[in-house]
Amino acid sequence: MNVTNKPSGGAPLSNDALEAHWMPFSSNREFKASPRMVRKSEGMYLWNQNGDKLIDGSSGLFNVAAGHGRREIADAVHAQMLENDYTSPFQLGQSKSFEFADRLAQLLPDPFNHVFFVNSGSESIDTALKMVMAYHRARGQGQRLRFVSRERAYHGVNIGGVSLAGMVRNRETFPVVMPNIVMMRHTWDEAHLFERGQPEHGAELADDLLRMVQTYGGSTIGAVFVEPVAGSTGTLVPPKGYLERLRKICDDNGILLVFDEVITGFGRLGAPFASQKFGVQPDIMTMAKALTNGAIPMGAVAATDHVYETITGAAPENAIEFFHGYTYSGHPAACAAGIATLDIYEREGLFEKAAELSDYFLDAIWSLKDLPIVRDIRGIGLMAGVEVFPLEGKPGARGNELQKSLFWNGCHVKWTGDSAIVAPSFVAERGHVDEIVDALRRTLKDQ
Ligand code: PMP
Repeated sequence: MNVTNKPSGGAPLSNDALEAHWMPFSSNREFKASPRMVRKSEGMYLWNQNGDKLIDGSSGLFNVAAGHGRREIADAVHAQMLENDYTSPFQLGQSKSFEFADRLAQLLPDPFNHVFFVNSGSESIDTALKMVMAYHRARGQGQRLRFVSRERAYHGVNIGGVSLAGMVRNRETFPVVMPNIVMMRHTWDEAHLFERGQPEHGAELADDLLRMVQTYGGSTIGAVFVEPVAGSTGTLVPPKGYLERLRKICDDNGILLVFDEVITGFGRLGAPFASQKFGVQPDIMTMAKALTNGAIPMGAVAATDHVYETITGAAPENAIEFFHGYTYSGHPAACAAGIATLDIYEREGLFEKAAELSDYFLDAIWSLKDLPIVRDIRGIGLMAGVEVFPLEGKPGARGNELQKSLFWNGCHVKWTGDSAIVAPSFVAERGHVDEIVDALRRTLKDQ
């Protein structure tokens, strides 16, 4: 079968080409029988294989925060590739990675002055795990090899991240995971549906960590990993006081707190990072996605002065203290993209713009509450989960169908299970929000 898609005016895709690309997190057979292709993207919009325009309600995969097709980023990457396309990051430097790390340190909360570069969110999580191990070992506490995570968490797909992830389906084919991972309960509560922003109830769920301290001994636990707002399981906003309570239990027991800010970082919640939004400071932060506006793959792990100094200070002279890194850690083109991205965020005041649009956005999303198919809505900042009732005995099947229907109704929104994750880019105007919500309403009411 030939598809009518003509990327950039090229030839239609052949069947061989369709089969050649084994697509990630996709039902390959189903997709290839009826492909949904994007051949152009600009600002808030995508164009499909038929040339029809779609509004992007999820800013790609929550990463294209400054809108698609930013020329400043393309120009910066182009210039960098011509000047210095690659330098080994091991025991050798090129200025862009230092410059970008410095810019990030200025944006990050105060004690986060050290940035380790990776290539994705998944790599940032596995790197953070190793950082936790290196930290405790440097302090003579190498026995802290138990890690705490949470049900309904998504921490990427590398073995460390899958082990930590509380999404059972991501693990069922890959049961060989890290040992000694224990899960706290998630914070979604069926008794409190349609609560906007931080739920009033549920802070006591943080005491699950206390129970683990009592069960296993605090001195065996290395770190707690949490997404401040769980993203990929449909926007689960932390109850008021919950993150504060986790922080306190960590402090009392020498446990590190890791915030996975892969989605929440860079203005999504209306503050540069979730730690600022919620006023709780972790010890390590992971980030990716909007770090480069999605233009070039990149992730990063930020550490406080204390964590960095503990690890780097522990090694004897001339020894490598953190035996970890990637060929493409701090790639010059990715750093150039990242610097250009931060320039755009600052110049256009996009984090402030996201904060200003939030009330309008959440009002519009909450207007979907009257549709009988809608089971719950959750949201904060420019991020909302719209959950529909599942089809009997087939969790996720309805969400899958709705994602496809929405695409043909002129809107891209990422569904996860039976929840739509609506997260427009920060260049969105009110009219764009209306367009996204109208498409959702038209699609959901037909069900
Ligand atoms: N952590 C979180 C919170 C994420 O949302 C994601 C991606 N959705 C990841 C980690 C993994 O990022 P990546 O897909 O870039 O590996």
